Amino acid sequence: MLDSDNIFDTLRYKQMTEDTIAIASFHAHVYYDTETREAAAHVREELGTLFEVQLGRWRDELVGPHPKSMYQVAFSPNQFAEVVPWLMLHRQGLDVLVHPNTGDALADHAVHSLWLGEKLELNLEVLKTL
Ligand SMILES: [Zn+2]
Repeated sequence: MLDSDNIFDTLRYKQMTEDTIAIASFHAHVYYDTETREAAAHVREELGTLFEVQLGRWRDELVGPHPKSMYQVAFSPNQFAEVVPWLMLHRQGLDVLVHPNTGDALADHAVHSLWLGEKLELNLEVLKTL
């Protein structure tokens, strides 16, 4: 498991040399378990009603770097100011990872991300091999 310091060391040079990093889109990953699945369903339904977002399918099984069941919500940069504040107020106690998609999956998840609720420990090793 990589710790945060190592990630920053790895990425520092790249960060310093990139003047601008283009964000193609954002993902919000909404985490849930058996006890909070109903709340997650409610949030999902509202997201789909209120916003033109792409709702990924329910992933009960662990996938990618994600340490809990979750579904993905994809949206464009110009939707950020609507979708993220809405999630801040309506996430129903669920933990949510919001990350940009810049083409560097490791940096996007480990460095460029923000969390609503608890920050979960991602399995970053999975992303190092991409
Ligand atoms: Zn994602």
